[in-house]
Amino acid sequence: MKILVAGGAGYIGSVVTRRLQEAGHDVTVLDNLSTGFADNVDGCELVELPISRAGEVLDSSFDVVVHLAASALVAESVAHPERYWQNNVVEGLALLEAMRLAGVGGFVFSSTCATYGEPETLPITEATPTAPVNSYGASKLALDHAIASYSRAHGLAAISFRYFNVAGAYGDLRERHDPETHLIPNLLRGATGGTFKIFGTDFPTRDGSAVRDYVHVLDLADAHEMALEALEPGTHHIVNLGSGDGTTVKEVLAAVEKVTGRSVPAEEHDRRPGDPPELVADYARARELLGWSPKRGLEEQIADAWAALHP
Ligand code: UDP
Repeated sequence: MKILVAGGAGYIGSVVTRRLQEAGHDVTVLDNLSTGFADNVDGCELVELPISRAGEVLDSSFDVVVHLAASALVAESVAHPERYWQNNVVEGLALLEAMRLAGVGGFVFSSTCATYGEPETLPITEATPTAPVNSYGASKLALDHAIASYSRAHGLAAISFRYFNVAGAYGDLRERHDPETHLIPNLLRGATGGTFKIFGTDFPTRDGSAVRDYVHVLDLADAHEMALEALEPGTHHIVNLGSGDGTTVKEVLAAVEKVTGRSVPAEEHDRRPGDPPELVADYARARELLGWSPKRGLEEQIADAWAALHP
């Protein structure tokens, strides 16, 4: 298939791009390099433009757009909601409209478990009510709603993936955020002489730290490849991508110490604004629709991220 990967120079986007290339697809990357890196893209064209200018690239020869070009930090979205409404909603709507005008019928969208807010029941299925507690989740949910209506009215074939916590690396493709806010990269920095901060030790969880569901970036990329076969005109599938296992921050810390063989000095801090206590996926729909299941556990995620930092 001929595929435009919006955000293909970023962490997850670059792994998705590489997997699609390996599967023999004809891939073009669209990325404004605001948080992505040109050297993450190898062996395909990189168009350096914002997604709002996707119309300059798209034509009816494209089969699918995979859209991972967004702002994705909970705390930033609490402090700067305007960035999330602009980058994720306004720009995302422009991309959808460029696709409609160009006659591109397939869409795979990176949504998030942050759309569910602080769910009353766990694990989270796609039927769990959406009630985001931060602008990141709200902005992603807004685009999910727009996609659903494009699908109904214009026949768009779409899948929204609700990512849980993505971790690990694929070869040299790893998290390179600045500033780095994500748990596993920060723990790995703690293992090499930095100090690690635990945000929140008073959550109603088994050890007081927050529970998340960590999924390997390569498993996630595989789901995108599988999604291409599951796209149906006029249908918008919402699909959770997580491991089904919940791990506390303190448990991830212990796993990092085990995998690296180093100790991680930790300081206890207040909760980060907007952080829910516990998010764990039920991924039954991904299994049923795509035949997908996660293959690489937490220790493999940590080991791959560690190896990518120390090649
Ligand atoms: N976290 C932490 N210290 C850090 C980074 C993250 O304690 O240096 C916690 C964070 O508060 C959350 C969990 O680890 O409970 C996962 O955070 P991350 O930013 O990786 O992903 P999020 O769930 O916010 O998308």
